[in-house]
Amino acid sequence: MKYYSTNKKAPIADLHKAVVKGLAEDRGLYMPEIIKKLPKEFFDNIEKFSFQEIAYQVADAFFGEDVDADSLKKIVYDTLAFDCPVVEVEPNIYSLELFHGPTLAFKDVGARFMARLLQYFVRQEGKEEVNVLVATSGDTGSAVANGFLGVEGIHVYVLYPKGKVSKIQESQFTTLGQNITALEVDGVFDDCQALVKSAFMDEELNKHMKLTSANSINVARFLPQAFYYFNAYARMKEKGLADKLVICVPSGNFGNITAGLFGHEMGLPIHRFIAANNANDIFYNYLQTGEYKPQPSKATIANAMDVGDPSNFARIYDLYKGNHDAITAYISGATYKDDQIAETMKQCYNDTKYVLDPHGACGYRALKEQLKPGEVGVFLETAHPAKFKEKVDSILGSDIEIPARLAEFMKGKKQSIEMTKDFASFKNYLMNE
Ligand SMILES: *Cc1c(COP(=O)(O)O)cnc(C)c1O
Repeated sequence: MKYYSTNKKAPIADLHKAVVKGLAEDRGLYMPEIIKKLPKEFFDNIEKFSFQEIAYQVADAFFGEDVDADSLKKIVYDTLAFDCPVVEVEPNIYSLELFHGPTLAFKDVGARFMARLLQYFVRQEGKEEVNVLVATSGDTGSAVANGFLGVEGIHVYVLYPKGKVSKIQESQFTTLGQNITALEVDGVFDDCQALVKSAFMDEELNKHMKLTSANSINVARFLPQAFYYFNAYARMKEKGLADKLVICVPSGNFGNITAGLFGHEMGLPIHRFIAANNANDIFYNYLQTGEYKPQPSKATIANAMDVGDPSNFARIYDLYKGNHDAITAYISGATYKDDQIAETMKQCYNDTKYVLDPHGACGYRALKEQLKPGEVGVFLETAHPAKFKEKVDSILGSDIEIPARLAEFMKGKKQSIEMTKDFASFKNYLMNE
């Protein structure tokens, strides 16, 4: 499969290049040249297959030309070592729980897949170790670190701003050891990101070691997210509830929903999509006006969605050839302020006993408000509420249980290397690795 850039000014890339580079030379996002339709028989029988079997069919459509069947199957099955079940919250509204992975959020799926695909390429090439640099303000670091944990031939450096991430988040990437190194930078997130960018541009450093990023826009993190949309459809079809399925996605950078839209292009019969935003309403406004106007991001209680210029808008725009009517015909929007998110969490808990996290709450509320007669809705519960325990407990007056795998992280011993935000010292550190 070949990949082109959404900016159309970079050379066409093969999968290997698209994965290792992440972003095209013209700073556009890679798109597969062809989105294969899966056969009718596949959809006719989809409910008879397991999540892993379905995911392999989807993976084969994207990656089958570039990765041999046995390896691809192993990558998919290893990635999906946990389930993504659909759970009834109330009649006609279901939660697609994407938090059963190691760091309790949906980013586990893409990160685990990317780690294994990168390992496949490293092995093909020979011995040279690949180094992944990732700057994080919290959640990306944990998903990437855990996704790559113990994957041979790859070393991960997580750069995070000292004192600016929660204890839970910090424990998820500083306690791992093995091939994961946490670098605690005396600065803010932007300083961490600047260090990573400078490292990629430094010729001497790139000669010394092979560097790559594991950004969420990477095709190897982005496309595998389509897997659980197919599985959600299959599980709803099993219940006889898939005729007019509406999928609602709490969205920030829009990678997750875009993977669902790719699924639709492959023939997945989703009736329509809703993109639920917090107060960062750039996409919502685009749907209303046809104008895309990036804004500085606003801090909210659903902070993984605090994005003022969602990268994957470029992919949606490209997918629909910039046709605003086509986009609004299939996708509607919603936007909620913090007080509405909190009110929704309380309402849902009081009425159904289901505990929403602040991100999932946006999705649930949009379905409550927008579902039409005859439609059945599934919202993506993108993270486990215990990841935001303090907020959730203070809103609900609850004391929610912390899942064992999260508690386990918090018991681990913190190992980090302190670093100034000065590039020379960061480079010096890496040159001596
Ligand atoms: C990353 C994230 C989102 C936003 O997903 P996008 O793909 O960026 O739209 C939503 N919820 C949670 C919990 C996240 O971690």
